[in-house]
Amino acid sequence: MPFETPDTEPDAAWVTAYVGLGANLGEARQSLLQAAGQLACTEGIGELRLSPLYRTAPIESSGPDYVNAVASLRTRLEPHALLDVLQHIEQLHGRERPYRNAPRTLDLDLLLYGAQRIDTPRLAVPHPRMHLRAFVLRPLCDLAPDIKLKGKSLPELLKACADQPLQALS
Ligand code: ATP
Ligand code: CA
Ligand code: CA
Repeated sequence: MPFETPDTEPDAAWVTAYVGLGANLGEARQSLLQAAGQLACTEGIGELRLSPLYRTAPIESSGPDYVNAVASLRTRLEPHALLDVLQHIEQLHGRERPYRNAPRTLDLDLLLYGAQRIDTPRLAVPHPRMHLRAFVLRPLCDLAPDIKLKGKSLPELLKACADQPLQALS
């Protein structure tokens, strides 16, 4: 029998997941594009689509403006294994966590994993603050305009974030 890792069983169900990407240190736009490529090349991940990129002023964070995007993907990795992949890619980009909300070379958040709700010490899904953040809602809406969060449509949630300006990057 061929070697099988516990998290990527051949018959495991494929789930649609959404990942938030952000960076405000170094070549932020390049980091996001590279990270999307690294995710797309990962065993157990397929069909990655990257939203347009947006420039945003730091909100709960500090330092230079952020570049943000969202990726949708199909995966047969279980959620914590997918988080491991996200954190590994962050490390490849030199992510450091000197203090909460510090500027960062790359941040990858698991926003949604199918319809699953997850609440463990390492992982909360849906991401508990995503519905309050224009830099998540806008690119998510580009990819999946019909998604609802907390019973509200993305345009509805975006209206409540009108004080968080975003600039689309060409
Ligand atoms: P925020 O979560 O408010 O966007 P952040 O991205 O700056 O803040 P990090 O320092 O990157 O926070 O992550 C802190 C911890 O959050 C990680 O160690 C991770 O275990 C945990 N975590 C919980 N839920 C998630 C999630 N949905 N996606 C990514 N990390 C998560
Ligand atoms: Ca984050
Ligand atoms: Ca994070």
